[in-house]
Amino acid sequence: MPMKVTNLEELFIEELKDLYSAETQLTEALPKMAEAAVSPQLKKGFQDHLKQTKRQIARLEEIFSGRDYSPRGKKCIGMEGLIKEGEEVIKSDMDKSVLDAALIAAAQRVEHYEIAAYGTVRKFAEMLGDTKAMRLLDETLQEEGNTDKQLTMFAENFANQKAKQ
Ligand code: FE
Ligand code: FE
Repeated sequence: MPMKVTNLEELFIEELKDLYSAETQLTEALPKMAEAAVSPQLKKGFQDHLKQTKRQIARLEEIFSGRDYSPRGKKCIGMEGLIKEGEEVIKSDMDKSVLDAALIAAAQRVEHYEIAAYGTVRKFAEMLGDTKAMRLLDETLQEEGNTDKQLTMFAENFANQKAKQ
């Protein structure tokens, strides 16, 4: 049964658990995205973000390590839906010329979802005076932002143009 949330610290934990689930689900989805990507740059982008995602999971575990809670036991339904949308793209028999643009569209939804969630928990950590969690969450927030920017660059540099032709 889910924990009854009664204060900000407990809400912080619940949100972190949700993120832990989101990131864990992503580690299974990103290899499939990389496999489906047509251009080597996008492929590498997904592979690099997989490595980053594993480090992000380790950061969440580090935040939990000082607490009495486990990061497990919650399922992030939002990420489950976003991953399903990505899978729809992979399973569709979309033309190769548009596939990368479609994969980027799905991936940027994921990054924006993460940016929203990490922005929230980072603020909670600040409110709670947890400077260690703040620093760790900040690092991840930066990475998600950079990944989003890189995806925009890929879209602008080649994927959208290729899809248009
Ligand atoms: Fe992430
Ligand atoms: Fe991400």
